[in-house]
Amino acid sequence: MKIAVVGTGYVGLVVGACLAETGNDVTCVDKDEAKVRLLRKARVPIYEPGLTELVGKNTAEGRLTFTTQLPKAIKGAQVVFIAVGTPQGEDGSADLQHVMAVAKQIGKAMDGYQVIVNKSTVPVGTAEKVRAVIRRETTHPFSVVSNPEFLKQGAAVDDFMKPDRVVIGAEDPRGAEMMVALYQPFTRTGAPIMVMDCASAELSKYAANALLATRISFMNEIANVCEVFGADVDRVRQAVGSDRRIGTSFLFPGVGYGGSCFPKDVKALVRFSADRQYDFKVLKAVEAVNESQKRVLVTKMQAHLGSLKGKTIAVWGLAFKPKTDDMREAPAIPIIQALIEKGAKVQVYDPEATKAAKLIFGTKVHYATKSYDALRGADALAIITEWHEFREPDFPRMRKLMKTPVIFDGRNIYQPQHMKAHGFTYHSIGR
Ligand code: NAD
Repeated sequence: MKIAVVGTGYVGLVVGACLAETGNDVTCVDKDEAKVRLLRKARVPIYEPGLTELVGKNTAEGRLTFTTQLPKAIKGAQVVFIAVGTPQGEDGSADLQHVMAVAKQIGKAMDGYQVIVNKSTVPVGTAEKVRAVIRRETTHPFSVVSNPEFLKQGAAVDDFMKPDRVVIGAEDPRGAEMMVALYQPFTRTGAPIMVMDCASAELSKYAANALLATRISFMNEIANVCEVFGADVDRVRQAVGSDRRIGTSFLFPGVGYGGSCFPKDVKALVRFSADRQYDFKVLKAVEAVNESQKRVLVTKMQAHLGSLKGKTIAVWGLAFKPKTDDMREAPAIPIIQALIEKGAKVQVYDPEATKAAKLIFGTKVHYATKSYDALRGADALAIITEWHEFREPDFPRMRKLMKTPVIFDGRNIYQPQHMKAHGFTYHSIGR
């Protein structure tokens, strides 16, 4: 098929590259000229495992092209994906200005029947709004489809290539059939393609993210209660997770969830429910717990080190999760800001997110280019993102570099007894 994808961010670029990989002719559009210039040279501006290779290969084979010109991209396209950002608005709602602007442009440029796909995460009712905007601009027939994306940053290519399920919200069979055909190559192992109404599809995405956020906040509270009673959250997690009704994933306590999705999607679901007079009490608590969990590590540091003024704190991990360079809503941001406010000298290291961190902290922290360099003269190390390379470090070397061997592990990546044996004072979450 001939496909256009509008928005070449973490979602749009992956969608475009993966659809090209299965043989489609894909044009990706972005209004960011610098981004498009890079992508035309097959240079990928974000870090996402496997994506550079996929973009390089499909660009070389002529199946994947990039432009800033939306009308040119959608000319003759059978399917047009909208994959632009839906950031958090001031009142917590999803800001739809980019989606609506693109819908209008599509309507203006349409030259025949097309399936317009909402790939962005959008509140219930957005498919209706997109349809109305396009209808005002064109007399051509078209279908609007809701096709929320469930990929995870850090494993986005894999997730898109091998989805657990594909959700398609459609109001007419023509649009639904084209989407089913497009996704067939990705579901050969039996993953279901679920066709439903648009409202249910739109809500499915928020329900999934909100449930995952709820598990995280719930386990963070269990971890805090473990500390109160001297229980070990690892034991509790394993005991609970082995129940097949519950399962093992998303039960790890930490310093709170972040990223470009969970925080804004939880807020948006609370908000658009409230717009219809529904008070989503559980999710309000999930958010409140997450806010306080981001402060847990600094509280532990103060309890152990006393005043942080003049102390040197090393930080390993800045991205909101491993295998991404993304720092949107990363717990590292409020943690490091608190350390700076309390007068600490902060030395940070992240394998991929330093560029993003420089835009946030400027010259207020020292950026190490190697993990061990961040430790020089440190009174303590805080671990905020569980990158693989932090899991088996050279502990004697760390001890030599640090002024005092103290670790505050916000992701529970080490075993307390091992750390004791290595001569560290070790604080983690819920153990
Ligand atoms: P992003 O900010 O990385 O990318 C958005 C892109 O859209 C940017 O490159 C921007 O320049 C471009 N854009 C904005 N307005 C445009 C316009 N008028 N014309 C052309 N391009 C335009 O965002 P993202 O992380 O890829 O997220 C996109 C959507 O997908 C959001 O709704 C998000 O909630 C959803 N989503 C994200 C993830 C994720 O893991 N990041 C997962 C599932 C769903």
